[in-house]
Amino acid sequence: MHRHDPELEALTQAIVRYSVDRMRLDPPPLDAPRTPGELRAMAGRTITSGGIGGLEALRVFADVLAPACISVDHPSFLSFVPGAPTEASMLFDLVLGASNIYAGSWLEGAGAVFAENEALRWIASTAGLPPEAGGVFVSGGTAGNLSALIAARWLWRHRADGVHDRTRGLVLTSSGAHSSVAQAARAMDADVFAVPADDRGKLCGPALRDALDDLDRGDRERLFACVVTAGTTNVGVVDDIAVTADVCEELGVWMHVDGAYGGAGLLAPSVRHLYAGVERADSFIVDPHKWLFAPFDSCALVYRDPTVARAAHTQHAEYLDVLRGADPLDTPWNPSDYAHHLSRRARGLPLWFSLAAHGTEAYAEAVETTLRTARAAAEVIDDAPHTELLLDPELSVVVFRRPGWTPAQYQAWSDRELAAGRAFVTPTSWAGETVLRICIVNPLTTVDDIRAIVESLVDDPCAPAGPADDAPQFFDAPDDGGTRG
Ligand SMILES: *Cc1c(COP(=O)(O)O)cnc(C)c1O
Repeated sequence: MHRHDPELEALTQAIVRYSVDRMRLDPPPLDAPRTPGELRAMAGRTITSGGIGGLEALRVFADVLAPACISVDHPSFLSFVPGAPTEASMLFDLVLGASNIYAGSWLEGAGAVFAENEALRWIASTAGLPPEAGGVFVSGGTAGNLSALIAARWLWRHRADGVHDRTRGLVLTSSGAHSSVAQAARAMDADVFAVPADDRGKLCGPALRDALDDLDRGDRERLFACVVTAGTTNVGVVDDIAVTADVCEELGVWMHVDGAYGGAGLLAPSVRHLYAGVERADSFIVDPHKWLFAPFDSCALVYRDPTVARAAHTQHAEYLDVLRGADPLDTPWNPSDYAHHLSRRARGLPLWFSLAAHGTEAYAEAVETTLRTARAAAEVIDDAPHTELLLDPELSVVVFRRPGWTPAQYQAWSDRELAAGRAFVTPTSWAGETVLRICIVNPLTTVDDIRAIVESLVDDPCAPAGPADDAPQFFDAPDDGGTRG
C-alpha cells in the first residue's frame, strides 16, 4: 500500500490522465445529483475487506460518482456562489495533495506558510490594510467569520479586565448578512442584532444609527463587533462600510468585513469605490473559492492586528510548546494561531501559485469580465418582455422575476433546466417573493448563456405536455418526401 509497485504506477498514470482530462473539459457536463439508492445500485459495494483495486475505484468515481456532482465550474452554473478555478490553481492543488505539507506551524511548513502569507499580504494591501496585517487561510467564510468574531470577543473581554468574562456578547450586523454570522454567534453563545437593510438590501448609516440609539446601556456594553457585508450573498450589494467604521470607532467596537463572496470586487476599478472604508476593518475575509478563481476550500482571513487573533486562538499543550519561542514577540508565524483550528493543509497555495503565474492584473481583468457579463445579463433580462429585473446589479448577482410564476413553477423550471444539462439556476426570495437569482463569477460565462436561460423562461414548465403535433422536430424530413419510418 505504501510502496510504488507497477500496479501503483498504472494507477498514477490513470489518475493524472483523469485529472488533466477533467480540467480541460470546456465546458464540463453540468451533471446532476442522484438519490442514495440510485448511487448504491450503480456504485455497488466499494468498501470491502480485500479492496476493489485503485483502477476500479477510479472507474466508479469517473462513471458513477463524479457525474452525480454538479459541475460548479460549468459556465451556466449560476446558483448560490459558483467557483471558476484557474487551471494553474487546480494543477497546484494536485501538487499540494502530493506533498501533504503540514501548514499549521512555521517549524513544519515554513516554505508553504511563507507563500500563503505572500498571497495574504496581497489581499490585505488590496483592501488597504497596514503592512503588519496578516492572518490565515481557513476552510470557508463560515470558519473565517467565526474565527474573526472570536478574536473580537477576546479583545472586548480583555479590555474589560474580567468584568465581561461571563457576559453574553452582542454582534451587530444587517438583515442582509450571511447566515454564518448568526451561526457563529450561536456557536459562541452570543446574540445578534440585525439592523434592517434598506430597500436595496444594504446596511446604511441612518438605520445603523437608529439601531444604536435603540440599544439600552446593557446591550451597548455587550456589543463587541459590527459585521458589515462587502457583497451580500443574496443580492450582491455592499453595505456602507465607511459609516460602520465611523460608528465602530466611536464605540470602540471591532469592525469585521465579510467579503466572502464580494471581497474580490476590490480588484475591479469599476466597483472599487463601493468598498470605501474597508481599510479601517479590524478583520476581513474573502473566499478565493468563490470569486478569486481558486479551488475549494479556501477563505483568506486577515486581521489588522494579528497579535489579538493570536492571543485569542493559540492552543497551549505540552507537545506544542516547541512551536513557540520563549519570547512571545519572537514566536514564528504559526497559521494555527490565527483561527479556530490546529492541523491544516496549505490551502492558500493554489491561489498563491496561480497569482504568481498569471500576475495580479489578470485577476483584476477576470473580475471585471464577470462584472461586465452581469451588467449585460441585467440588460438582457430588462429587455425581455417576459422577465423583470428587480435591482440593478452592484456586483455580479442579478435578481429578477418571471411575472406570473408561482414558486412551484420556478422550481419546476429550475429542475427541468438542470435535468436537461443546460443550466443550474435556483430560486431565492426577495422582499418576501420567490424570484430568480444568478451569480456570475466565471469569466467563461457569456451573455449568450444568459440569453439562453432567459429564453427558456418563456414556457410554463408546469403546463401539461402539448399534443404530439406540437412536439419539436429533431430531424429534417427526408429530401425525397418519402414516408417516415
Ligand atoms: C458564502 C458566504 C459565506 C460563507 O462562506 P463559506 O465559504 O460557504 O463558508 C459567508 N459570508 C458571505 C457574504 C458569503 O457569501
